[in-house]
Amino acid sequence: MAIKIFIDQGHNPTGFHNSGAEGNGLFEQDITYNVGKYLESILKNDPRFEVKVSRPNSTTVLGTNNSTSLSARVSEANSWPADYFLSIHVNANTNPNINGTECYVYSESSQSYYLATSILNSIVSELKTKNNEVRIRPSLYVLRKTNMSAVLIELAYITNYADSLKLKNDQYKFASAIYQGLLDYLKLS
Ligand SMILES: [Zn+2]
Repeated sequence: MAIKIFIDQGHNPTGFHNSGAEGNGLFEQDITYNVGKYLESILKNDPRFEVKVSRPNSTTVLGTNNSTSLSARVSEANSWPADYFLSIHVNANTNPNINGTECYVYSESSQSYYLATSILNSIVSELKTKNNEVRIRPSLYVLRKTNMSAVLIELAYITNYADSLKLKNDQYKFASAIYQGLLDYLKLS
């Protein structure tokens, strides 16, 4: 039985509700869309996995406001049902010096926590981003409402110049690092 991975590319296209952060000429929603599509293509080439994405096309718009945009992603994953939910995001801060990768999970005593640790370590080692650790965020809707192990991945900071270059130029590398982290967690190779 294939392992079912739901990839949630955070946010909606520019100009719609629930669009993401901006910085250094980049838009979060474009980066999350591309990294999710790369990860989808990698997983489609591995028969051990089945994969669905929240935004199959660059024009896909989910929900009619911020809250239904999030609930649409969660209900799709829950009704499939997915085995793992990976939400891809890009971070931002008013301080341009803040940089690095972090992952959010609902609770520390969970498989999600170990999966997040594995993905985080893989990204940090492949992309040479700063390790900002796995953080506990029970308030996040997509972590609270998903019925399966769920990790929200903040790839890097769009508002930090060095991170933004990686987000712009190394999108495939982010996807393959997430894939490697998933394999490490599942003890596959
Ligand atoms: Zn985001």
